[in-house]
Amino acid sequence: MKATCWMGRNTVEVRNVPDPGIVNARDAVVRVTSTAICGSDLHLYDGYVPTMKKGDILGHEFMGEVVEVGPQVRNLRVGDRVVVPFPIACGNCLSCQNGMYSVCENSNPNAGVAEKLMGHSPAGIFGYSHMLGGYAGGQAEYARVPFADVGPIKVEDGLPDEKVLFLSDILPTGWMGAEMCEIKPGDVVAIWGAGPVGQLAAVSARLMGAERVICIDRLPYRLHHAERAGAETLNYEEVDVLEALRDMTAGRGPDACIDAVGMEAHHGNPAMYAYDRTKQATHLETDRPYALRQAILACRNGGTVSVIGVYGGFVDKFPMGAIMNRSLTLKAGQCHVQRYMRPLMDRIRNGDLDPSFVISHRMRLEDAPQAYEMFKNKENECNKVVLTA
Ligand code: NAD
Ligand code: ZN
Ligand code: ZN
Repeated sequence: MKATCWMGRNTVEVRNVPDPGIVNARDAVVRVTSTAICGSDLHLYDGYVPTMKKGDILGHEFMGEVVEVGPQVRNLRVGDRVVVPFPIACGNCLSCQNGMYSVCENSNPNAGVAEKLMGHSPAGIFGYSHMLGGYAGGQAEYARVPFADVGPIKVEDGLPDEKVLFLSDILPTGWMGAEMCEIKPGDVVAIWGAGPVGQLAAVSARLMGAERVICIDRLPYRLHHAERAGAETLNYEEVDVLEALRDMTAGRGPDACIDAVGMEAHHGNPAMYAYDRTKQATHLETDRPYALRQAILACRNGGTVSVIGVYGGFVDKFPMGAIMNRSLTLKAGQCHVQRYMRPLMDRIRNGDLDPSFVISHRMRLEDAPQAYEMFKNKENECNKVVLTA
């Protein structure tokens, strides 16, 4: 089959590789009909995530048709259309039973590597490095889906791929980012990053009753998307974000701040992984628009900072003093996608939600190298690329 392979920093190739098959009794094999490129894939493309190997198959946002099931997968049949959640989860462990699927205790065969870097291991993720399981991803013609009796959700024929594909990741992620803000009527929510994840967090925050949503980015076409999703916008290249947010909230700051940027805001920041104990911050360093730092500093006293942007390693100059002294709550996580798929699919079916508005480019799987370049550099107003085999 053809598959999008990571070949080193800023290099992907579509290569011919062996077809996947059933390995465990709870596996299924899916023929991928649609797959998307995510901001999280850019961290791999940028070479920020260690433990990638040349030839690793990328992709964690995909859906398709079941072509094979293992003997213990009784909920799916060959021919079913399914959307596959990006965290791989067993459904039985303590985390899974508590709905914390992205920290499943049984889905990362390389947990020891993750433990060395993070203390404990999160769940395995499709196409997301050996530290997170070394699973082949879904930017391919076929994918093996472990624990297929737990994760994939069946989709009826009436719902086209484009409406449901994002149940695999970015719609539940945006939703969880807003949910972690515990929005009350009248709340103001600020969102750093008006990429597809930030846009869907904005839609979600509005549906949860936020009175005002303010999206922050530098790319006008993305800020327009955010406006269409019901948000006000700030361009961080044009205004001082902290000052503007203060002005917009009677001096208090937003009730909740969502970081939907992640490591990208630290591009070119050599200190990101290197914790330098000689450089203790003695004053607010707000000159560079580090999204997470701004989100913490902007948040009103007693408010919540919700981190859905992906980080790895260490991020220095973390304003712990602000969090402690101002009674902030910090919440973070890879999305527990399985928890949200069914209720969000109901909303899509009812017409409350249609995440397909984020799609700007539809391309063939073999064009993945151009798609990655365009999405990374935000050329041609690229907002979100869907690849079809
Ligand atoms: P994206 O790269 O398309 O969008 C990121 C946006 O952030 C861009 O529009 C960029 O211009 C903007 N940005 C960069 N620096 C900024 C700054 N300092 N202030 C404000 N905006 C800034 O990515 P995406 O697909 O929208 O994903 C966003 C983040 O969400 C990524 O970190 C991704 O890894 C993460 N993510 C997390 C989960 C999860 O489960 N938690 C799931 C999917 C994606
Ligand atoms: Zn993703
Ligand atoms: Zn589990």
